[in-house]
Amino acid sequence: MTGLYIHIPFCRQKCRYCDFPSYGGVDNYIAPYVKALCREIADSDRDHPGSAGTALDTVYFGGGTPSLLSLSQVEEILTAVRHYFAVTGGAEITFEANPDSLTAAYAKGLAGLGINRLSIGIQSFQPGLLRTLGRIHTADEGKAAIWAAKNAGIDNLSADLMYGLPGQNLRDVDADLKELLALPLTHASIYSLILEEGTPFYHDVTTGTLELPPDDCVETMGQAVHAAMEVAGFEHYEISSYARPGNRSRHNTKYWQYVPYVSAGVTAHSFWHNCRQAHIANIPQYIRLAGQASLIGERVEIDAKRGPEDYCFLALRMRDGIDAKAFKDQFGTTVEAEFGTVLAPLVTQGLLQQTRRGYALTEKGLAYGNYVFSRFIR
Ligand code: SF4
Repeated sequence: MTGLYIHIPFCRQKCRYCDFPSYGGVDNYIAPYVKALCREIADSDRDHPGSAGTALDTVYFGGGTPSLLSLSQVEEILTAVRHYFAVTGGAEITFEANPDSLTAAYAKGLAGLGINRLSIGIQSFQPGLLRTLGRIHTADEGKAAIWAAKNAGIDNLSADLMYGLPGQNLRDVDADLKELLALPLTHASIYSLILEEGTPFYHDVTTGTLELPPDDCVETMGQAVHAAMEVAGFEHYEISSYARPGNRSRHNTKYWQYVPYVSAGVTAHSFWHNCRQAHIANIPQYIRLAGQASLIGERVEIDAKRGPEDYCFLALRMRDGIDAKAFKDQFGTTVEAEFGTVLAPLVTQGLLQQTRRGYALTEKGLAYGNYVFSRFIR
């Protein structure tokens, strides 16, 4: 079934490592942007032909910081979604929130609107690391936000955590994991920092003001994360994602399993009728054009060559890996016929393993994911 991603590109302040499409200090755009989102949703057939009225079993508000919207703005968007699509009973409706804007009253309001899953940007519980990252919340506010959501009756709760940070050591990672595992979470996304060009972090690291931990230390941190999460009963089901049984992110799983999804909002991506599309990035232009003209800035048709490549490198992000039967059903050929010369050496190197379903990353392959994925691009 289809999913809908809605992008909210506003943040209180830009974090120092972040190159996501989000902007601080442009709150004056929030109200007209919400109206524009509703117009785009009503006009969904224009850029996603045949999508109007489609059954949705996942809706995902991502950002940016969706929790900067007022509850009435969230309601306005959800009303449009429910009116122009067919949101199924029991649909997973996820909302990303940051601790500085997730109060008890706000969490209660979200629950009342039918939001049943929250993804909360914690990143660390160490005050020094939060400051280095440029986060505007404290460790206590992070914990309070998660409890506020739980007390509001939202049981499906995910938190984001980072490692491989400047000045961080293994003891910090262990301390963060201990704090995380004391919270009522069903899911966690735990990422190693990626240094993105153009960010203040990139400048500070390249000029020597900040120093990242060495690669072997980051690898050890990753192993500590996997071990602690598994001991705590979380399934490591995707490179950076951990879930208690039955609590995988249904929406994100669509991305990795080649399932079509639609989207709304600046820079939002979709996969629809074998096209990967990215929305325009300019907020004033988006506000002007929504409901009147196409909002797609980039469209790539997924042809017979690109389809199997996409399928494999996305599927391999999940520990379940490539499903050989699903691959054959999708492309009419076997994964070995398409990628035999890629698969065999990766298996020999111990990076991939053959499973009952097909092929999956090994424990060793997890640390070299990007190399493995790149082998599938021809
Ligand atoms: S809150 Fe999230 S999206 Fe916003 S600047 Fe920080 S990391 Fe980026």
